[in-house]
Amino acid sequence: MSALDENLSKAQGYLAKFRETGVMNHIAGASVPANTGDTFETISPVDGSVLAQVAKGDASDIDAAVAAAKDAFVSWSKMPGKERKAILIKVAEAIEARAEEVAFTECMDTGQALRFMSKAAVRGAANFRFFADQAPSAEDGVALRNPNQMNVTSRRPIGPIGVITPWNTPFMLSTWKIAPALAAGCTVVHKPAEFSPMTAKLLVEIAEEAGLPKGVLNLVNGFGDGAGRALTEHPDIKAIAFVGESRTGSHIMRQGADTLKRFHFELGGKNPVIVFDDADLDRAVNAATFMIYSLNGERCTSSSRLLVQESIYEEFTTKVADVAKSIKVGHPLDPETVVGPLIHPVHEEKVLSYFSKAREEGATIAAGGEKVGEAGCFVSPTLFTGANNSMAIAQEEIFGPVLTAIPFKDEDEALALANDVQYGLAAYLWTSDLDRAMRMTDSLEAGMMWVNSENVRHLPSPFGGVKASGIGRDGGDWSFDFYMETVNVSFPRQHHKVPRLG
Ligand code: NAD
Repeated sequence: MSALDENLSKAQGYLAKFRETGVMNHIAGASVPANTGDTFETISPVDGSVLAQVAKGDASDIDAAVAAAKDAFVSWSKMPGKERKAILIKVAEAIEARAEEVAFTECMDTGQALRFMSKAAVRGAANFRFFADQAPSAEDGVALRNPNQMNVTSRRPIGPIGVITPWNTPFMLSTWKIAPALAAGCTVVHKPAEFSPMTAKLLVEIAEEAGLPKGVLNLVNGFGDGAGRALTEHPDIKAIAFVGESRTGSHIMRQGADTLKRFHFELGGKNPVIVFDDADLDRAVNAATFMIYSLNGERCTSSSRLLVQESIYEEFTTKVADVAKSIKVGHPLDPETVVGPLIHPVHEEKVLSYFSKAREEGATIAAGGEKVGEAGCFVSPTLFTGANNSMAIAQEEIFGPVLTAIPFKDEDEALALANDVQYGLAAYLWTSDLDRAMRMTDSLEAGMMWVNSENVRHLPSPFGGVKASGIGRDGGDWSFDFYMETVNVSFPRQHHKVPRLG
């Protein structure tokens, strides 16, 4: 039996329960269908086959889930941080114990390759551990004294939170939002993406089996304009943690305006990787290709614009094209696969449309640029050369294994090109000149920059974007600032004179 066949048979085992029962909502500790009984299909992007029926929640399901989260908030928010920590560590352990199930389910539901998804559970568990460790001190504040008064700040959980997530690496991303919210003492209603609902259901089941009290984490599946909208408009939801497209962020902000929601937005990106001729070119080629062709390029921090100094442009783009051509496209459960199928035919159509746009705009397709095979949503790792910054392929987020290369003359031009987009999530810089690295990182419009490195995540460091790429930061203590309210209590230090009127 080949490794792929062996993995496929294991995956069938893991998916069997979803085929039988469907992907249900999860409210107040119970697995429930949508109130209307309506369902929608989740399909495998490998061949379009139906993996399961999914509960199609609407406003009434959101009402029930929010009521459960509101009830649970009373005791969860008051539980000492040390006890919350103990429960969340157990959740992390339980996630690790089911790592293979999470990985195989994620691969089949999203098309992401196993070589990357095998770490989904480990990364998810790391998020739980990291924020759990901070739960005991999350409420701590500072003492600020003046001659008459001592001000003491503290933080308290803001209330039930709505978490709305996208379909790219859904398990890891959901834990990145849900773990800090729970560690802060908030309860959660989660609305996962309609294209990838399966591992969200695994997460809530795993968490409750590990001891998370019922109602602390609730799940409602459905579409953005149904369950998603209802969650953002609900008066008992105090904040929305959203990851997704920039224009969806705008909708959500409008929808939440009447109830004065707090928002945290992680949105789109068109991130430059800037390569100067003094860089270690082999390392830069590896990093640039890793950051666009891993995870199918369906990654907010992908290096989707390659800005290369003129003097090395030919040499560098030739090397990148060689890597792109040598990448294995295949079944996500094949351990050799690097690029699996894109998430869904709708998204595949979007990515393919940029192959036509690139040709129309006069760019050169130096690698890929085509659909692979007849069945499934497979596209080839692609490199566009001969592009300029005004082309759609240089400005718009394609969200696939598609890289646009543009030459630049000098530092000023590199900076101008890098900043001339609506987005500002991440930037990658390759140079051996430290002064230049300092100058460039001072002026690049991006929330996160990596110098001479691919994206290496560090949970205590801030994560988030500027411009149309987001509002707010996650990671470290920044997450707690979002999920908690800071309050101040002032005490007199002495019998000071109180002003008397009249
Ligand atoms: P999307 O915006 O289409 O959907 C995201 C979620 O929002 C889904 O659950 C969807 O159902 C929901 N939604 C849609 N309309 C809604 C509405 N009106 N009200 C409430 N909810 C609504 O995004 P996607 O296509 O699923 O994901 C890809 C996008 O996510 C890309 O733009 C990518 O860059 C972005 N992303 C950003 C980060 C980051 O950290 N900045 C991380 C991952 C993904």
